Amino acid sequence: MDPEKRARVEAWLQFGEELGLGPFYRDRSRAAQDPEARDGAAESAAPELPARIGFPASSAAASFSKPAPPSTPDPAPSRTSVGFSPAASSPNLFEAAERVEGDTLEQIRTDIGDCTRCRLHKARHNIVFGVGSPTAQLVFVGEGPGHDEDMQGEPFVGRAGKLLTQMIEAMGLKREDVYICNVVKCRPPENRLPERDEIATCSPFLLRQLEVIRPKVICCLGACSAQTLLATNQGISKFRGEWFDFRGAKLIATYHPAYLLRNPNAKGEVWKDLQKVMAVLGLQPRKR
Ligand code: SF4
Repeated sequence: MDPEKRARVEAWLQFGEELGLGPFYRDRSRAAQDPEARDGAAESAAPELPARIGFPASSAAASFSKPAPPSTPDPAPSRTSVGFSPAASSPNLFEAAERVEGDTLEQIRTDIGDCTRCRLHKARHNIVFGVGSPTAQLVFVGEGPGHDEDMQGEPFVGRAGKLLTQMIEAMGLKREDVYICNVVKCRPPENRLPERDEIATCSPFLLRQLEVIRPKVICCLGACSAQTLLATNQGISKFRGEWFDFRGAKLIATYHPAYLLRNPNAKGEVWKDLQKVMAVLGLQPRKR
């Protein structure tokens, strides 16, 4: 592109950024059709990611063939950058969220009530709060409820949910051993992406849930939850399978099970990510 035209485009993008319009450059119609498209959207205007925390890339594979004993010390959760981007300078959603003294999951559910704080309440049948152990070491965070979840009031109970359950069991865990929740608690119509304002309105409840549970590992399923918790709009393919610090927990992002239903070839990548989680938690794969 000729320099003059490039300068004009950059100035226009900068203007949009200053107005807070960056994420709206996504092709949402394509994203709604293809979960992977969500993962690659809005790269050009992406804010920096927080610094990764240093896990050797080969640790997962090694731990799968020979799982680490529970006494193995965790890799230091330092924020030392190993050639990665610096942390975002603005506070992320978590840091902006109110911390509630003596908070509990029950209190959070009570505070949500029959919520009408965002437009997603209009078409929902049930608020899908979250399910699992309140003391779980591992929390899975998805994007939002789908049809089956909306009807049953429980996250990940449809086809994608069944696949998630299989993934959890392959890790040597049961569904009730972990905690499962979403960024937004009401179903977006037509399974569209949650809008930015809906995420901003609902995600403080997620952040309170994470603060109460205080898991050792947070596994983000898909781009929406990873981008929300990491305060970035970089595509998930840029940081999938890497470790981040999230307020003392280790956070890793992998593909959403719904994406795997459409792209079974990606299951191997997800399994590698789950092996990393297993290594941190000292888990052994289920014996067949
Ligand atoms: Fe309330 Fe969250 Fe449902 Fe919006 S998505 S209505 S903020 S519970």
